[in-house]
Amino acid sequence: MSVRTRADLDELPAYVAGRTVPGAIKLASNEVSEGPLPSAVAAIQQASAEIHRYPDMGVGALTAALAEHYAVAPERVAVGCGSVALCEQLVQATCTPDDEVVFPWRSFEAYPIITQVAGARQVRVPLTGEHALDLEAMLAAITPATRLMFVCTPNNPTGTTLRRDELTAFLDRVPSDVLVVLDEAYFEFVTDPAAPDGMELARERDNVASMRTFSKAYGLAGLRVGYAVTSEPVAAALRKVCIPFSVNALAQAAAIASLAAQDELRTRCANVAAERERVHRALVDEGYEVPGTKANFVWLPLGERTAEFSEHCLEHKVVVRAFAGEGARVTIGRPEENDAFLAAARAFPR
Ligand code: PMP
Repeated sequence: MSVRTRADLDELPAYVAGRTVPGAIKLASNEVSEGPLPSAVAAIQQASAEIHRYPDMGVGALTAALAEHYAVAPERVAVGCGSVALCEQLVQATCTPDDEVVFPWRSFEAYPIITQVAGARQVRVPLTGEHALDLEAMLAAITPATRLMFVCTPNNPTGTTLRRDELTAFLDRVPSDVLVVLDEAYFEFVTDPAAPDGMELARERDNVASMRTFSKAYGLAGLRVGYAVTSEPVAAALRKVCIPFSVNALAQAAAIASLAAQDELRTRCANVAAERERVHRALVDEGYEVPGTKANFVWLPLGERTAEFSEHCLEHKVVVRAFAGEGARVTIGRPEENDAFLAAARAFPR
């Protein structure tokens, strides 16, 4: 007799990470190519002398720094082992079996996986023809069983953002017992003044959580630290469902140092935004369909030619992220990395 694992997991695809290919430029995981901020590296070195001790389980210093940064009470902040862990905690904190989680699709690949693992039901709402979130359709998908909604802005992988006015109007119509998670993993790259600031909305509304990460703009993907600002009861529930000590000591130290380096962060994000506009324009000039993007990546909805495109890029020593039959997502890297990608895109037979 062999061990029995849950039957419903047989059909569940495992999370697929962006590939790392030796000798090739990796533009597959929306990391920043420049690396961590120098002050974060120094903080890691200092903190490493203490790694024989368990980390601060309450993540006190980082929570306090985030609370001050966003002008909220520390009780309203929850820190997690990457924002993906917080996504899972959010489902666990709100859903019992058969409750429903509504999310746009295509969007962040983890939403369906964590929902199913938690035993909740996924309700996928297709994007509009312009690759943007369809807020009307998301409202229409709400039922009495809906407990949680993920709203990803900018959306991974399409890069589209919502406008503040449309998001506010949407939130006005969501029942107050449904938690809306604004997944803002790419917030720091947004340059559009009409885009929403989820922190403002989370401060004003009890049923909103703004979730951000140190993985992207701050360059700490390898350390795994993300955070959410929400109402006190939701933050308290998030702390209850977290795995003890899941935010490690080096991550806590590096995140505090990174948060203090806002000027460097702004310069870095401005550079990424400038490169994003350059890559976008070059692809459009080449005849590619590329939705307007406010994140650190571009989306090419290549449909059936997606696999061919990603193999072609790999032959040019550039790794992109392919979503079979749908499109390719390409991270904005350093200028020379982007040039290598653009050369590959220009050489792709169309
Ligand atoms: N949300 C979105 C939209 C993402 O794209 C990602 C990473 N790909 C995450 C959350 C999770 O990021 P992390 O766990 O590294 O904070």
